Amino acid sequence: MPVSCSAHACTNRRQRDGNIHFFSFPLKNAERNQLWINAVGRKGFIPTKNSAICSSHYVASDFKINPGGNYRLHLNDTAVPSVFSVIAGVVGAQKPQYEIWGNTVNVASRMDSCGIMGRIQVTEDTAKILMAAGYDCECRGPTYVKRKGTLTTYFVRTQYDQKSK
Ligand SMILES: [Zn+2]
Repeated sequence: MPVSCSAHACTNRRQRDGNIHFFSFPLKNAERNQLWINAVGRKGFIPTKNSAICSSHYVASDFKINPGGNYRLHLNDTAVPSVFSVIAGVVGAQKPQYEIWGNTVNVASRMDSCGIMGRIQVTEDTAKILMAAGYDCECRGPTYVKRKGTLTTYFVRTQYDQKSK
């Protein structure tokens, strides 16, 4: 049976000998299933047993073994899809404005709305990328993020941290 990815704007389909793997929604685990639904961020979306998310929406640490081989990939029990593309377009006829949409935009907005004045809050995935690039990040710990549940977030350390205290 053909399986296409449930992520918004993703056109990946299951192919014979394809490098893309598909993961069914964790329907039997309501709490985890809800995290996946929130991550996908599609209004009114209810997954069925045929709904799946393709491997391009997970980070390396979500997999039990590294992706890339021809073997069956397995996700960690706590894995939640987190990599989604941004959709861009122009809205408005009178005063056209360039806009972007997508889960990435929603999460960035939540990082702002539940942050602390004068500090830069980022998700764990972003912190990992920043730390690998030499930035100093401080773990804030589990932080409640509206419609996303509890996420581990980080503050990026900057030269202005001391001055604001
Ligand atoms: Zn996909």
